[in-house]
Amino acid sequence: MTTFQRPELLMQRYGIVTPEQIDLEALAWLLNARVRYRPLDGCEAQIMGIRDRAIITIDDRGGAERARFSLGHEIGHWQCHKNQNLHCSKEVIGSTRDAGSAKEWQADTYSAGLLMPRYMFEPRAKSYDRPSFRSISELASEFRISRTATALRFVGTDPVYSILICYGPNGRNWFRKSRNWPSTLIPAREVGANSDVLGLLFERCTEARDARREPASTYFNGNDLQDEEVFAHAVRTGASDDPVGRSVMVLVVPVRSRLIELAERRSAW
Ligand SMILES: [Zn+2]
Repeated sequence: MTTFQRPELLMQRYGIVTPEQIDLEALAWLLNARVRYRPLDGCEAQIMGIRDRAIITIDDRGGAERARFSLGHEIGHWQCHKNQNLHCSKEVIGSTRDAGSAKEWQADTYSAGLLMPRYMFEPRAKSYDRPSFRSISELASEFRISRTATALRFVGTDPVYSILICYGPNGRNWFRKSRNWPSTLIPAREVGANSDVLGLLFERCTEARDARREPASTYFNGNDLQDEEVFAHAVRTGASDDPVGRSVMVLVVPVRSRLIELAERRSAW
């Protein structure tokens, strides 16, 4: 891998201190990359790099938030994978798959670092007493980025305990945990019947305004956790009206630290 500047360092070098100052088109121009918007066939964004110059093309038919994340992704390729021609599909940009390519994961991480630099994101995230999609939505609005990308950034930078779980009609799709969340506390494949997740997936329930207390057993297996509770807030992802393609994310945090202590007592499986 060629040497590159970490996204936060790049933003600081150009004196960017507030979310509204984050202008990726201006940044691309400073990095000798020209940006254009037009419909693309078979991919959502692409970069053609030749020596010290690049042309980035973005298909912005998926909306402004999505186009910004795609532009950050291509700037990530330009910084990390110089002099390459890359075509990035809708499936790889902002992917939540566990088995994606390292290069695409690196470009996504770079994009999140440009759009939500840690030195701006972490102090704001910490200012909320208890994380939920209420706070995630406020951060998403301030940083002009999707709720999903913001939630992934939140969990990815959380110094304590949170987990984001996504469910589809067939059960758990994926999850992302904060770095200190115990590896012995993995969400069950099926969500408990009393969760808001099922109402959002299969009925026309509206999203709750904030997190609510639920038994930990709604999301995690194990008799040792039967007296424990979590704060959980479930919301729909995307805008799909198709029940088959619908998915719901839930942000879960412990009510008491005892949940984490009990999980840590389990031997690693
Ligand atoms: Zn890519």
